[in-house]
Amino acid sequence: MQKLEQLYEGKAKKVFKTDNDNRYWIQYKDDATAFNAQKKGTIAGKGVVNNKMSAYWFLLLAERGIENHFVELKSDNEMLVKAVEIVQTEVIIRNIAAGSICRRLGIEEGKELPFPILEFCLKSDELGDPVINEDHILAMELATKEEIAKMKDYAHKINDILKEELLKNDIILVDFKIEFGRYQGEVILADEISPDTCRFWDANTMEKLDKDRFRRDLGGVEEAYQEALKRITGEKK
Ligand code: UDP
Repeated sequence: MQKLEQLYEGKAKKVFKTDNDNRYWIQYKDDATAFNAQKKGTIAGKGVVNNKMSAYWFLLLAERGIENHFVELKSDNEMLVKAVEIVQTEVIIRNIAAGSICRRLGIEEGKELPFPILEFCLKSDELGDPVINEDHILAMELATKEEIAKMKDYAHKINDILKEELLKNDIILVDFKIEFGRYQGEVILADEISPDTCRFWDANTMEKLDKDRFRRDLGGVEEAYQEALKRITGEKK
């Protein structure tokens, strides 16, 4: 497989074409942004952590019947994926209140939610990724009813699997964001699953092991990413 020209550069990843039309080559970057790119910086080693951690979750999820775009690792910060067309809605699952739900609804950070709350957001940097509902998705033709049903089903299953696996490593899964893509007529899990897209809290100390350390200038950002990777995959750097 050959890496060809760059198709797209996002905030955290670059996407390249390959000599196979059905495959993209993804390169994870150390660049970090927060608050809709108003805050910018670099987290040394983040590209490697996010690539390796995403690969770990994608392999585990595939074993558990969650179809996803991962094909194989290409280097410490690169992976080969199925060439999907990204659905323009993010799916968020929350187990504990944190971040934007606290700001929007006045719920106290750290409050355990009575059941996992699923939210959809429109993928739009200009609009700041507003929360939307299923009617908005249908009316804007972002996804079909069947696709929405599959995304919801997958999101809850992914939550159950991640929550259980993380707890074995003394990590609480507070919330996470996932994205889906269309591949050969089917919606499958795509994008990444990493400390950039999940909130991980140490189960004993409640210490944050995710991007909130960067968002809130808590220090120890690089160390937190390495610690999360080490605990989850058993691998360091
Ligand atoms: N999230 C993400 N990308 C986004 C927005 C949110 O990966 O563009 C993740 C975030 O890391 C957290 C979860 O989704 O794990 C819920 O985020 P929230 O809506 O609280 O947003 P934030 O606090 O980041 O504004």
